[in-house]
Amino acid sequence: KGVLYLVATPLGNLADFSFRAVEVLQSVAVIAAEDTRHSRPLLNHYGIGTPLVAYHEHNEDAAAPQLLARLERGESVAVISDAGTPLISDPGFPLVRLARQAGIRAVPVPGPSALIAALSASGLPCDHFHFGGFLPRKGEARRSELKTLLDRRETLVFYESSHRVLDCLEDINAIFPADRPLAIARELTKHYETIVNSTAGAAHALVAQDADMQKGEFVLLVQGKRETAAEDIDAEQARVLGILLDGGC
Ligand code: SAM
Repeated sequence: KGVLYLVATPLGNLADFSFRAVEVLQSVAVIAAEDTRHSRPLLNHYGIGTPLVAYHEHNEDAAAPQLLARLERGESVAVISDAGTPLISDPGFPLVRLARQAGIRAVPVPGPSALIAALSASGLPCDHFHFGGFLPRKGEARRSELKTLLDRRETLVFYESSHRVLDCLEDINAIFPADRPLAIARELTKHYETIVNSTAGAAHALVAQDADMQKGEFVLLVQGKRETAAEDIDAEQARVLGILLDGGC
């Protein structure tokens, strides 16, 4: 039987491609790509001439059994998405499940993911987090989802598109306490990469007044609820320290 590789690709900066990712993509019989036209420049850049087949959310139920048949015949297959790690808010799950049920090895070739990149640089706690993927597109559904997360103590992480970022921040403003820390990570690894720290109360206005801040791809992160007295003391100490440092002490 062949091996199914799940290969992470760069979020924007082509240099974020691992040596192993290139080797694996050169060695497999076929690459199942979310958008073959999108992936071609990256593959050309690294001299990868492996045949591509389309594997996206609209054909994956039909394409997965066909790729499984190739794996059963002994061919190895790599799955890539447009950017980042396949299956993370991207196609691939039906094929991995089928492969594992059939006793085929599914092997990760790890690399970039907007979720982890944003979290690591956000300045918000990273030890526990809730990945909410894309919030519902419709306002009412989005607000009720956010309400269910209001008391979660982990950092909340969401993917968002430029079309809905303002609506989403407006809903966060309406639902979360105004002083809840929030980070916006935009265009990660790209020329206009921006990572800003704000609050649930201020972020909407910050983005609304800056047209550039409304462009590109976004990860939104909301700090979890703090509950214990000890944490409040930590917060107060941090505030006083911030004042002292600002004053040049
Ligand atoms: N599988 C990908 C990953 O591992 O990050 C995510 C795919 S999902 C369809 C696309 C979303 O990821 C975008 O709408 C955005 O929220 C986030 N994203 C992808 N690239 C990004 C980047 N360079 N900067 C910020 N967010 C990004």
